Amino acid sequence: MLLCYFEGSLFLMPELPEVETIARGLRRAILGRRILSVTLGKTDFIDDPAALEQHLPGRQIEAVERYGKFMLLRLSAVHGESRVASNGDAASASLLVHLGMTGQIAPSPAEKHTHVCLLLDDGRELRYTDARRFGRIAYLTKALLAEELTGFGADPLEVSKQEFAGRICGRRARIKALLLDQSVLRGVGNIYADESLWRARIHPARLGAKLSGKQAEILRRVLQDILRKAIVLRGSSISDFLDADGQPGEYQRHHRAYGREGKNCYRCKSLIRRAIVAGRSSYFCPRCQPSPRGFAALPLPGKSARKTKRRDAPPGSGQAPNAGKSLRRNGKSP
Ligand SMILES: [Zn+2]
Repeated sequence: MLLCYFEGSLFLMPELPEVETIARGLRRAILGRRILSVTLGKTDFIDDPAALEQHLPGRQIEAVERYGKFMLLRLSAVHGESRVASNGDAASASLLVHLGMTGQIAPSPAEKHTHVCLLLDDGRELRYTDARRFGRIAYLTKALLAEELTGFGADPLEVSKQEFAGRICGRRARIKALLLDQSVLRGVGNIYADESLWRARIHPARLGAKLSGKQAEILRRVLQDILRKAIVLRGSSISDFLDADGQPGEYQRHHRAYGREGKNCYRCKSLIRRAIVAGRSSYFCPRCQPSPRGFAALPLPGKSARKTKRRDAPPGSGQAPNAGKSLRRNGKSP
């Protein structure tokens, strides 16, 4: 449910800093508000739409938390009512909100693609809009929530040196795959994985088991540093991401590897390259982040790739097999 299968730069899933940014905005905007009524539009991304209509009205939003890449709106017991609801321990229920790729949640005026609208007791409406509906919304009792949260790894902002090393260093999987694996760490996605690996000078295709304890600790520190800075800058705005106040983030200006194929490395001026690791486009510097033996980057798109091809191939022998594809993809990059 947390994986993004659309690698194109147009649709990226919000990662920890973006979700944290939205959660902070919502905390300022709706904490303590009571939900008066629920109106639903399309419901194919909602676990149990009837449960929202049945259990949300009358509930107060007591807390807004981020968990990995999704949010939990913690709900009070129903106003003036102490009995346990029919489906269990409703007193400590939560509304899970996962934004998918194009989801937004904010107290806002009517808009296209609004699929969940919660009328609040101050007259405003908390609206969930999502053009592509890859998000998810679920009303979860305490027991269902506990079940939902099993299997998630550590929060990268809180993980200790020992725990991080324990989760990474013994694994015969590529470090990029480990960073993206929500059962290892919760909240890291493609952007912040690439940025932290560049900062730590570790190639994304290296195996976790091949990292030294020192390298793992450097990676943990730069990952935390990058995530904290990105939160301060309200995340990265690459696709549709807007925070709870409808403002785009700023962190994309600080990207050093992600989306920079063919551009100069900020440290050594080598050209940033791209490779597919763990099924995802991964950006790295071939000099600062030496690759494991036998691992090849994709050919650079554009001029240099075509020049090389022309030099190597007899005239009229056709195109380089990957050049056109890479070129088109790159052309769409921000
Ligand atoms: Zn470099």
